[in-house]
Amino acid sequence: KVWPADQGKNLFQQACKNGLEGIISKNSKGRYVEGSRRDWAKSKCRARQEFVICGYTPPKGSLPAFGALVLGSFENHKLIPRGKVGTGFTEADRRRLLEVFKPLRTTQKVFDLKETVTWIKPELVAEIEFAEITRDGSIRQGSFIGLREDKQASGVHLDPLQIAVLDDKNMKVAGISISHPERLVYPDDQIAKIEVARYYERVGEMMLPFVANRPLAALRAPEGMTGETFFQKSFATHIPPHVFQQELQDGTTVFSIRDAKGLVSLAQFGVIEIHLWGACLPKADKPDFLTWDLDPDPAVPWSDVLGAALLTRDVLSELGLSTVLKTSGGKGLHILLHSRKTYDWEVMKNFSKAVAEKIAAYNPKRFVVTSSKAKRTGKIFIDWMRNGRGATCIAPWSLRARPGAPVSMPINWTDLREATAAGFTLREPSSVPSDWNDLKPQTISKSILRGLGVM
Ligand code: ATP
Ligand code: MN
Repeated sequence: KVWPADQGKNLFQQACKNGLEGIISKNSKGRYVEGSRRDWAKSKCRARQEFVICGYTPPKGSLPAFGALVLGSFENHKLIPRGKVGTGFTEADRRRLLEVFKPLRTTQKVFDLKETVTWIKPELVAEIEFAEITRDGSIRQGSFIGLREDKQASGVHLDPLQIAVLDDKNMKVAGISISHPERLVYPDDQIAKIEVARYYERVGEMMLPFVANRPLAALRAPEGMTGETFFQKSFATHIPPHVFQQELQDGTTVFSIRDAKGLVSLAQFGVIEIHLWGACLPKADKPDFLTWDLDPDPAVPWSDVLGAALLTRDVLSELGLSTVLKTSGGKGLHILLHSRKTYDWEVMKNFSKAVAEKIAAYNPKRFVVTSSKAKRTGKIFIDWMRNGRGATCIAPWSLRARPGAPVSMPINWTDLREATAAGFTLREPSSVPSDWNDLKPQTISKSILRGLGVM
């Protein structure tokens, strides 16, 4: 038996997911055919997942309480209709559920449907078994399994394999076609390539003021974060669309982006992490962002890292310079100084080093300013070396190719106490913290430089 392409693809993916490989397989012509496993007719090739209950239809015939439940799921924080489920309930289930729904009833329409629906606040989560998700995004042949009182409605979203079999329109993000949308970039977290692309589309507006028109570097993981990765500072042959490559005066080839299409285009090209120079094109010869990266040895307690961040802030603030903070998405914290483009890289590198040394001098037992691994045991390395020409740092809001899909997240200084290095992930909403919104270029005066022995 040969299956129609989309139905076959869907079944194939569901089968793989449910450990039923072999009941359907892909032949050399790319067609989906009945596989060698003969128990296929008996095996239930059905998916199961949670949906948000948004309302119910009136009872039909002899059914008590209600006809079917109207379901939805949150995608990018928006509630999307997912069709209905009308089976799987006992009569007692129906009566009991109706009692649960009553206090949640609302006159506000959750979705714009023509049929009669009693809407309820979208707070309850139901586990549903179903055959497939149709191209319009609704479940087919759904059956109610039970309420999931342990689950938050806001956390209910389609799993990547199911998203991947939806309408072609969904495969385009910011106008860019995403190939292999279902490919798992973070296999342990079930995060697919399409979600990475959608993440960059979602945070684009916040991220771009800090990322556009700067030389970038990208960490690509075409096979996902567990496969081989490539750290790229330029493109040799194929330059992805909406990505611009140019040569600087000294002959260095750099690439940059200008808009959300550029960001998504990089994601389509397999990029997970976006790194950047602290300088703007076209020349990128005078930095406007300096970074001190606090790299704690694993033995260092997190409270010491928080203390080090405050000390860094205070040392710079003593010099009249205000800073902003972000998590690295890995092990540490990054403190950034947005400066006027006054000095070249050499001067700024020396300044960064002098500041790091000044911080370290407060407690040489706790800090080091040299990258030598041996000297770092039990200490925090104040890494100032990314302030040299050509050095890069992870971009604000960039994903990291590490388990859990953490983000290098800008935060307010007042939120430092609650921060952890990898505490923010792709799945959480984010906004521009006020410290970052109010960012003004700082003036590093000659007298500051002289005071630090830089000039
Ligand atoms: P953590 O908190 O875990 O230290 P981080 O971003 O501070 O996170 P790394 O991921 O170790 O630190 O990256 C160190 C720096 O080196 C980054 O600023 C990055 O731009 C750069 N970098 C990362 N990978 C490469 C690479 N393969 N080649 C050259 N530079 C790289
Ligand atoms: Mn670091």
